[in-house]
Amino acid sequence: MQTFVPNPQIKEEIEERLENKGTKKPVINLDELWKIAMDRVKIDVSPTNFNSWFKDLKLIRVQNGEAVIVCENPFVKDWIEKQYHKKLKKIFTEITRRETKIILTAPNSSIEKKNKEEEHPDKRYEGNYLTVEEAPIFNIEYSHQNYYESSQQKAGLNPNYLFENFIVGDSNRVAHAASEAVADNPGNAYNPLFIYGGVGLGKTHLIHAIGNRILNKDPNKKILYCSSETFLNEMVEAIRTDKNIEFRRKHRELDVLMIDDIQFISNWEKAQIELFHTFNTLQQANKQIIFASDRPPEQIEKLTDRLRSRFQGGMVADISKPEYELRSAIIKQKSQDKGISLPQNILDYLAKLYDDNIRELEGSLIKVSSHIHFGHIMPDEAEIAKILGIDPASKQRRFTSKEIIRAVCKEFNVSVRDVRGKRRTADIVLPRQVCMYLLRKELDYPLERVAKELNRLDHTTVLHAIERVEDKIAVDDRLKNRVEGVTKE
Ligand code: ADP
Ligand code: MG
Repeated sequence: MQTFVPNPQIKEEIEERLENKGTKKPVINLDELWKIAMDRVKIDVSPTNFNSWFKDLKLIRVQNGEAVIVCENPFVKDWIEKQYHKKLKKIFTEITRRETKIILTAPNSSIEKKNKEEEHPDKRYEGNYLTVEEAPIFNIEYSHQNYYESSQQKAGLNPNYLFENFIVGDSNRVAHAASEAVADNPGNAYNPLFIYGGVGLGKTHLIHAIGNRILNKDPNKKILYCSSETFLNEMVEAIRTDKNIEFRRKHRELDVLMIDDIQFISNWEKAQIELFHTFNTLQQANKQIIFASDRPPEQIEKLTDRLRSRFQGGMVADISKPEYELRSAIIKQKSQDKGISLPQNILDYLAKLYDDNIRELEGSLIKVSSHIHFGHIMPDEAEIAKILGIDPASKQRRFTSKEIIRAVCKEFNVSVRDVRGKRRTADIVLPRQVCMYLLRKELDYPLERVAKELNRLDHTTVLHAIERVEDKIAVDDRLKNRVEGVTKE
C-alpha cells in the first residue's frame, strides 16, 4: 500500500482549519478564495488576457452576497467592468453558491479605505465555496467576450475535452463513433448529430471533442458552441437592440453550430422558430449541426413537429449509464491526469459506488484524495463512504442482467435458452420482450447491449419489444402485475 506524505506546511495549515469543525468546509482566507475563482477564470480566458487584466486584482471582501475587488487603476477597472463583470459575477455566484454582486473599485477609494478599517486581520472567508474540480464546467459565454487568443476560446470550446481523453465503452460506443465520424467529415457524415443521455455522462465532453478536432485541423473553421439558453438570451438581446441581422449572420454563417442542452429550447416558441430557420440555412449549405440533450427528440415536450423531425433527420445516438469496466477505466485515467495516486482497491471501490454519473465519480476522486492527503491516513471502504457522505448499501446495483432474465423465465415458465434462441411462438416472444423491457428499464442498458444479452441481431428489435410491452402493460393489469412481480423478486 502506498503512503502519503503531505507537505508539512500544508498539514499544519489544514489541521488548524479542521479545528474549525462546525462549518462543512475548512475556513479559508480571501486569497485562497480568489485563487479558486481565478482558476475558473483561466479555463476560458487566454493567458495573455489573464496576465493583462486579472493578475493584479485583489479581493478584499466577500460578505452578504457582495464581493469587493480592487483594480490597480481606473483604466483596468473600466475594462474589467466592460468585459468581465458578468463572468466574475457568474463565477462568484457559482463558487460561493449564492447570488453575488461584484463591486469593482480603484485603489484608495472610499470602499477600500472603509474595508481596511473593518478588515479581519487574517481576512477569513467563512462561507461556502466550490473548488474548480467540484464545480461543473460552465458554459463559456461567447457573446460577452470578444478578445480571444485561440480559435478554441472563440468557439466557446474547452480545450481539455478531447477524443484523446474520452474513454469508450459499450454505453457510449455509438455516440463516440458518430462523433468521430462527424469530426472527420463535418457536414457529410451525419447531419444533424443528436446526442442524448443522462447528466454527467459525457455529452458535453464529446461535442467539445468534435469542435476541438475540427479546429485543430483547420483553425479557420467557424465553430460556435453554446447552450440553448445562451442562444435564446442572445436572440432576445438582438431583438431588443435591433441587431437581428447580426444575430442571424453569426449563427447562419458558421461551419459548425453546436447547441447543448437543446431540450430547453422547447420552452420558447420564438427561439424554436429562429432555430428552425438557422437549421435549414446551415443544412442546405452542408454545414454541420450538433445537438446534445438529456432526452431523445420524441420525448422533448412542446417541441414543434418540424423541429422534432429535423432533430431526428440525421443520427440520434444515446449515451447510457456507464458499465463498471468503463467507470473503472475512466477513474484510472482521471487520477493519472490529475496526478492523484490512489491504491487500486480504492479506485475500484469508487467505480463501484458511482454507477450513473461520471462527473460525480470524478468529484469523489478529488474528495477522497484530498482527505488522504490532509489526513495522512489510508481510509477503508466504510470510511470512504462516510467521507463521501453516501450510504453504500443504497448504491449497490440491485441485480444483474442474468438475474433479470432468469427471473422473467421463471415467471413465464420458459427456459433461458428459448428466450435467447430463435423460436418465435407467442409463449416465448412475450417473455423475451419483457426481458428486453426490464433490462432497459432497470439497468438502463444501451439498446445494442440489450440486443446482445438476448442474442438479437440489432437494436430495432429491442425498440419494438419495449414499445410492445409498454403498450400491453398499459391495458393489461395482469401482465403489469407479473412484470412488477419479477422486479420485486
Ligand atoms: P454531460 O454533458 O453528459 O452532463 P459532461 O460531458 O459534462 O457530461 O461530463 C462530465 C464529466 O465526466 C466531464 O469531466 C467529462 O470529462 C467526464 N467524462 C464523461 N464521460 C467520459 C469518458 N467516457 N471518458 C472520460 N471522461 C468522461
Ligand atoms: Mg453537458
